[in-house]
Amino acid sequence: MDTESTSTDPVPVPVTVIGLGLMGSALAAALLDRGHPVTVWNRSPEKARPLADRGARVAATPAEAVAASGLVLACVLDYDAVHTVLDPLADAAGLTGKALVNLTSGAPEQAEAMASWADKHGAGYLDGGIMTTPPGVGSPEMMFLYSGSDEVFRAHRPVLAALGDPMYLGSSPGLASLYDSALLGLMWATFSGWLHGTALVTSDGTAATDFTRIALRWLNGAVSGFLTTYAPQVDAGHYPGDDATVDVQIAAIGHLIHAAHARGIDNALPELIRSTMERAAAAGHGSDSYAGVIEVLRGPARR
Ligand code: NAP
Repeated sequence: MDTESTSTDPVPVPVTVIGLGLMGSALAAALLDRGHPVTVWNRSPEKARPLADRGARVAATPAEAVAASGLVLACVLDYDAVHTVLDPLADAAGLTGKALVNLTSGAPEQAEAMASWADKHGAGYLDGGIMTTPPGVGSPEMMFLYSGSDEVFRAHRPVLAALGDPMYLGSSPGLASLYDSALLGLMWATFSGWLHGTALVTSDGTAATDFTRIALRWLNGAVSGFLTTYAPQVDAGHYPGDDATVDVQIAAIGHLIHAAHARGIDNALPELIRSTMERAAAAGHGSDSYAGVIEVLRGPARR
């Protein structure tokens, strides 16, 4: 496969971007900002115009786009769309020797299958998870998770750094999407808990912005400290309840449910959390720390 970029210097490296939706356009723009020669292709050609105005070369076909660069980034709706675009040229050996970095969201199993497909067609394959939205692309604060070919990752790391902080998780191609899914689950649970708490305090007249200042201090300080304490407990399979037990938190969440109910707020979220804690207690984890709840979340093979 092509390995044009081998140093950490931001030397210009030709890159092709397939897919110019919100995310693909942001990826191409960040690469142009760093001075890389960028070739783009999108199913709806009009989306290429703003990038052409900034110096991107617009390819007429996916085959022409892929032929232009050794490094090809794909960011379309889903894996079916990746196959729709790339299958015809793969069948014509158009991917041979290319490094394909797929930043399209999918399931780990889809990433594994696509890595095998790319290998069959002579391409090195890296799967990616983008842990930001388009406005965050280009910021070194934002994580881009990668898994699959370490050869592709090492060769193209300096170019990938134009998009965000590139983090390599391992050679198993599904790892990036596994982490991506897990981190999005964490984000949605956090959003929902924050919105439930915001509904509670705003119903008594507090501004969401005032509550959120307090909430962020709670998350960044105490709550992140709890996670740091509980992760080694999960690894050890031993959850000493020497800070706050599941039993005491079952009682505490009753106060939240009472206060929210009294204000007419939807309680589906805390009810779910309470019933999960109750299942953990019934399974013998009532005197464990909250980390013991993982025992009722895990599949049977890991219990
Ligand atoms: P989007 O704005 O809806 O763009 C979708 C892209 O996929 C467009 O380029 C579209 O082409 C193309 N596409 C869809 N079906 C196609 C098909 N059958 N054949 C060829 N091209 C097809 O979505 P997006 O926000 O850019 O997201 C793209 C990927 O990035 C998704 O997998 C998404 O989950 C992931 N992602 C997005 C974000 C985010 O914040 N937006 C964050 C992380 C990951 P047309 O322009 O012709 O419709």
